[in-house]
Amino acid sequence: AELPGDPEQSPRRRQVLGAAWSPVAPTPVAAPRLLAHAREVAALVGFTEDDVREPWFAEVFGGNALLPGMQPYAACYGGHQFGHWAGQLGDGRAITLGEVVNAAGERWELQLKGAGPTPYSRTADGRAVLRSSIREFLCSEAMHHLGVPTTRALSVVTTGEQVVRDMFYDGHPRPEPGAVVCRVAPSFIRFGNFEIFTARGDTENLARLVDFTIARDYPHLEGTAEEMRAGWFREVCERTARMIVHWMRVGFVHGVMNTDNMSILGLTIDYGPYGWLDDFDPTWTPNTTDAGGRRYRYEQQPAIAQWNLMQLARAISPLFPSVEPLQAGIDRYHATYVAEYDAMLAAKFGLPALSDATDPARALVGEAFALLYEAEVDYTLFFRALGEIETVPDDDDAALALLGDVFYDADKRAAHGATLAAWLRRWHALVAAGEPFAARRARMHAANPRYVLRNYLAQQAIDAAEAGDPSMVHTLLEVMRRPYDDQPEHAQFAARRPEWARDRAGCSMLSCSS
Ligand code: AMP
Ligand code: MG
Ligand code: MG
Repeated sequence: AELPGDPEQSPRRRQVLGAAWSPVAPTPVAAPRLLAHAREVAALVGFTEDDVREPWFAEVFGGNALLPGMQPYAACYGGHQFGHWAGQLGDGRAITLGEVVNAAGERWELQLKGAGPTPYSRTADGRAVLRSSIREFLCSEAMHHLGVPTTRALSVVTTGEQVVRDMFYDGHPRPEPGAVVCRVAPSFIRFGNFEIFTARGDTENLARLVDFTIARDYPHLEGTAEEMRAGWFREVCERTARMIVHWMRVGFVHGVMNTDNMSILGLTIDYGPYGWLDDFDPTWTPNTTDAGGRRYRYEQQPAIAQWNLMQLARAISPLFPSVEPLQAGIDRYHATYVAEYDAMLAAKFGLPALSDATDPARALVGEAFALLYEAEVDYTLFFRALGEIETVPDDDDAALALLGDVFYDADKRAAHGATLAAWLRRWHALVAAGEPFAARRARMHAANPRYVLRNYLAQQAIDAAEAGDPSMVHTLLEVMRRPYDDQPEHAQFAARRPEWARDRAGCSMLSCSS
C-alpha cells in the first residue's frame, strides 16, 4: 500500500500534485552536538545509551548523516488555519528519516524538525531555533509521562549555526542558536494530509491514503471496505475526544489547533506556542498571533476539535455514499467527550461518578471553576492540595491554609476566601460520604499532577541552555518523568508562577512561529 511520491528530488519550493510526499535530504549543519535525549525513547527505537554517546548519533539526528536504510522525505498536506483554508502547507521544516520496527514489533517513525528546506518550506528556511526545539522536546516527554496521548521526542541537537526568527530586541531581529529535534511517533499524518487531496479533487489518492492509514495504523478494524472507513472515522473522533479531555485535565493549551496540527492518531502534535494554565483562566491562550480572536483558548479546545473533525469529515466525504457514517463519528466525538470529561472531573475532585444533570455534584464542580477563576487560583496546585485534604476545619483561614500557596492576588483571596472555604466544607461533606480518605487521595493524585511544564520553567531552562548550560533541561526532563510523584528535592518546580514571570514576553506568551 505504498503512497505515490513526488518524482522531483530537490528542496525547490513547489506545489506538489498527485503525491503524498517528496524525497528530500536534511541539509547538513556546521557543528551538531547533542544537547539532550530521552532515554525511554532511545530504548523504544532500539538505541542503547552507548549509541547515544557515539559521535554518529549527533551527526544523524542533527541531519548530517543517514543510517543505512533511511530514505528521508517530507509529507504533503494542507490545512485550515484559524478557520480558513490555507492550501498546501506540508512539512516545511520537518523531514522524516524513516521508520524502525522495534523488538516489541512496534513501528516508530523518526522525524527531524529544523533540518532545512523542503518543497513545502514556503517563506522560511526550514530551520528551528533552540528555544522552540527545547520546548517541543520537553513538552512531548512531559505530556507522555502525564498520560496524555502525544508524539514523543528522542533528541535535541544544537547545530552551531544561528537562526533568525521572530524575536525582536530593540526592534532588530535577534539571531538565536539553531537546533534540530528528532520526534518519534507511529505516524505524523494529519487531518490536512486528507484535506489537500480533496481540495485538489484527487479522490483517487484520497482513497489510497485513507486505506493506507487504516491498514497501517488501524489494523484492528474489520468488515467491508465501507464499514472499515466508517469505523475508522468513528475511532479518530473517539481518540480526539480522549486527547482533548486530557488537555483539559492537565491545563494544557495547544495554542494553534489548525487542521494541519491534528494527528490522525489522536496524538498531541506540533508543539509551538503552547502553554499551561497557571491561574485558572479558561479564556487564556498563550498564542499572541491568536490574541485578538482567542480562537484557541483553553475553554474553546473541545469545540475546535469538533470543528476540525468536521473538516476531516468533509474531506473524506467523497468516499462515503451518505453522510450518516460521518455524522455518526461526530456524534461519537460528542458522546465520548461528555462521558470522559465527566469521569475526569469525578477523578479530579474525588467525587463518585457524576450522574445526570440534576446531580448536586455538578453544581459544586461548576462553582469551583468559577471560584478558581474569580479568586485567581493556581489550577495545578489547587487540585493537588485538594487531594491531600482529609478534613476541613470550621475556621475559614484554617480551611484555606490547607490549600497552601495557590493564590496570585491577595485582594482576590480576601474577596473570595470565605466563599472558597464554604465550598471546601460542602465538597468535603460530599466526598467524605464516599470512599475512605486513602483511596480518594490515591484516585485524585492519579488525575492531578504535582508537576506540569510551566511556561516560565521551560523559559528558564531555555535561557540557561542558550547561555551554554543545558542542565536545567536535563533536570526538568527528569522531574517530568514522574509528574504525579511528590519529589521533595524538586519542590521549587511545583511552585506557582513567580510574579516576575506574569506577563513577560517569552514566558507566558508566544507567537505561532515559536
Ligand atoms: P506550524 O505553525 O508549525 O503548524 O506550521 C505551519 C506551516 O508552516 C507548516 O507547513 C510548516 O512546515 C511551515 N513552517 C513553519 N515554520 C517553518 C520554517 N521555519 N521553515 C519552513 N516552513 C515552516
Ligand atoms: Mg504544524
Ligand atoms: Mg491571568
